[in-house]
Amino acid sequence: MKDSYRHKGLRKRLVREVKAKGISDTRILEVIGKIPRHFFLDSGFDDWAYKDVAFPIGEDQTISQPYTVAYQTQLLKVHQKDRIMEIGTGSGYQAAVLYELGARVYSIERQETLYVRTKGLLEKLGYGGIRTFLGDGFQGLERYAPFDKILLTAAPKSMPETLISQLESGGIIVFPMGKKDDAQQMIRITNTKPKLTIEKFDYFRFVPMVKGVRKR
Ligand code: SAH
Repeated sequence: MKDSYRHKGLRKRLVREVKAKGISDTRILEVIGKIPRHFFLDSGFDDWAYKDVAFPIGEDQTISQPYTVAYQTQLLKVHQKDRIMEIGTGSGYQAAVLYELGARVYSIERQETLYVRTKGLLEKLGYGGIRTFLGDGFQGLERYAPFDKILLTAAPKSMPETLISQLESGGIIVFPMGKKDDAQQMIRITNTKPKLTIEKFDYFRFVPMVKGVRKR
């Protein structure tokens, strides 16, 4: 796998585009400028990797659009050493973004094919520190809870109560919520004990969150 000057140039352009769309957090922009996103797509699609679009990664799934990755990450207010659980490892790109921001990342994928492929890729790219799990994200990771932050990259139809219960006091969960064929609204919930603070943001299109593990 090669990261050339051309790729770096394309990345700079992508960073400018994401910034122009309203992402202001410079650390997030730096990380997007650093990570070779083309490594997370099948080879032969290098140019697509640097367009601000979602792209198929097999198994009927997509790598989120860079703007969406940045948007969700910005809402999550990531700090160094934050323990973050991500639901939907997919290509691994979002997990790499969180990891580069200094977080401790726990990422769950329900499809074994993607889980195996991405685990191998992350190790190869030097992201072996990202902990990946094959499992149903609706269950979260009881063993490692509570988390400072939780991020869903697939959309549940309603409030993911089990996951909310795995939030640290003061913790934040960001997720797109809504039905499969509609656009889903981005929600941020902060665990401001004893109650929850709920905020609503823009609409996006995500793949649905699906129950259970899919074996190969
Ligand atoms: N974060 C990914 C986005 C992948 S798309 C990236 O950066 O590429 C969403 C992913 O969520 C898909 O891989 C899908 O299989 C997974 N998914 C859907 N429902 C899930 C569930 N209940 N638990 C874990 N992963 C799930």
